[in-house]
Amino acid sequence: MSTKAGGVLFRMGYYFYSNTRLGYYYHKRNIEKAKALFSNGHSITTPHVCNGLQIVPIALIEDNYSYLIVDEESKTAVVVDPSDASVVQAVIETEGVNLKAILTTHKHWDHSGGNSELKSKYPDLLVYGSNVDHVPGLTNNLNDGEKFSVGCLEFTARFTPGHTIGHTVYILDASRYQSPGHVFTGDLLFMAGTGRMFESSAMEMLQSLDKVCELADDTFIWPGHEYAKSNLTFVQHIEPNNDKVKEKLDWVIEQRKERKMTIPSTLKEEKEYNPFLRTHTESILEIVGLKIDDECKDKEAIRAKALQELRSRKDKYCYKL
Ligand SMILES: [Zn+2]
Repeated sequence: MSTKAGGVLFRMGYYFYSNTRLGYYYHKRNIEKAKALFSNGHSITTPHVCNGLQIVPIALIEDNYSYLIVDEESKTAVVVDPSDASVVQAVIETEGVNLKAILTTHKHWDHSGGNSELKSKYPDLLVYGSNVDHVPGLTNNLNDGEKFSVGCLEFTARFTPGHTIGHTVYILDASRYQSPGHVFTGDLLFMAGTGRMFESSAMEMLQSLDKVCELADDTFIWPGHEYAKSNLTFVQHIEPNNDKVKEKLDWVIEQRKERKMTIPSTLKEEKEYNPFLRTHTESILEIVGLKIDDECKDKEAIRAKALQELRSRKDKYCYKL
């Protein structure tokens, strides 16, 4: 098949997956396939507990993560990207918490596929997200920089288009728990990687990644997928002399031997080894054959070009676990 024909087929498949009910049936089939593969989820997860705040990662489908965020004193909980309602509901019951809201990063079924089912089980549930992205069950549309509270859990939404046109990340202000902040990045930012740019330009994706980079360096990063091993293997391939990459990859390989989760990382770490956050650096620009010097009139355009090139190399890099 020619590359052009392959591209057309891919775009058609993507359209049907993200815009029609066919995508939902495909998602339900993936849930069943993953359950046959992993009886207890794709990874062994450990809750993050800090002075009355609890973040419970939930391993879903083949490599997705949903997160239950709990204020321990009031038992108020919100869930990020609950793509499989029955698994998420079981965790809610085990934890004995009151689910008040869903935070949806984007419309893809492997992030939003459980919204409607959970809403039918918990009728007062609020569903946050962007109406640009046609989030299932949406009750509260959010704009860039909008702050909102669920009980005493305080969030800021950032509009981060790139992977989809309405992608949104959520920043939890955890200062009342004497903790650094937490950002739930969906398919914008992964450990050592970034999401595919399905619906926006590289420039928009770059601006979205820059919004995350504005956060404090000690912010915890909670991504939508367990992609650390494949991402870091790719980064080591393009940047073999980066010691931070090697160090993190060695740790990730050990974790994954026992199927342990590799999340969270921090923004400080990501800035050291994630090439998609370093398109302003000489070392990454050199890898993709670009340069920013004093004569350069549009530095952001060069960075966007570097981002596009990195993403396209990642797409072509064939890596088998
Ligand atoms: Zn996605």
